[in-house]
Amino acid sequence: MIKQVIFFAAMLLPGAGLYGQPAVPDDAQGSGQTIHPQDRPQSQTRVPERMLSPAWEELTSGDFALAVERAGGVCIIPMGVMEKHAQHLPLGTDVFAARHIALTAAAGEYAVVFPFYYAGQIFEARHQPGTVSYSPQMLYDLLDETCREIARNGFTKIILMNGHGGNNNFLQYFCQTQLASARDYAVFFFNPSEDRETARQIAALRKSTTGGHADEVETSVLLVIRPDLVHMDRVVLDSGADQNRLPLPGAYTGIWWYARFPNHYAGDALGASPEIGRLSIDSDVAQLRDVIRLIKADTATRQLQDQFFRSAGSFRNGSNNKTK
Ligand SMILES: [Zn+2]
Repeated sequence: MIKQVIFFAAMLLPGAGLYGQPAVPDDAQGSGQTIHPQDRPQSQTRVPERMLSPAWEELTSGDFALAVERAGGVCIIPMGVMEKHAQHLPLGTDVFAARHIALTAAAGEYAVVFPFYYAGQIFEARHQPGTVSYSPQMLYDLLDETCREIARNGFTKIILMNGHGGNNNFLQYFCQTQLASARDYAVFFFNPSEDRETARQIAALRKSTTGGHADEVETSVLLVIRPDLVHMDRVVLDSGADQNRLPLPGAYTGIWWYARFPNHYAGDALGASPEIGRLSIDSDVAQLRDVIRLIKADTATRQLQDQFFRSAGSFRNGSNNKTK
């Protein structure tokens, strides 16, 4: 158990490769010759496929094309935010979790994982220290340009893997807006369904029945990924109770979260345990791995998109009603 925790923690340390050792090109060893990169054809830059890290920032520029190819054109953006998580969890909790799940899933079913992405919708935490909330236009443009840069580097399928609940509406809207103009890549939003067996096992282990943020399960996940950043002695410093200060059933308004959970704590984390964390992580990893495999094999999305863009751009010649 301790070994596993150390392994997970090591993955998140700067400079720690997922496989614990650097990938060394086999033709660079023992030849005694200096080969200038510009003189070497791409095909001679051989890295055993098993040595390719899924982490974008750990790849060399020379290995990148091989990574894109091996990934089947799939890149994952694990998304989080800088937000208070009660008094006991770090601001980057959601990014740590999203990135850990993405890297673990991509190690099983290879895909490239984009670096630490912390620009998310989080206006509702502006009253709490440490929050980073970019403007609406900046949030949209940054994600749009990130996708375009990922596509410019050769990927054709981008999976948004979200670790922050406050991003959900924005990311669905972002996916809808991908139809606004033609493009040569597709964006997918990883949307796991409820894993009933895991939910049952977690419910049997949990000591609390409420939750939603920095709660028993989220704290358990961090106890697995970054136990060094969890301060269980500070759980009691804030209340995670629903303050229910805006009883307006049937109406949605932006202040709703602040009205209920101004401490950015919803639930009771005291019962958190690595056992619960591992169940939650394993379920997410398995679902994401399946989705990577499905999206790798998928050709229908791009075909339909291309057909749609051709059709949507051709009203003037009267062909917009035709489907091919
Ligand atoms: Zn969170």
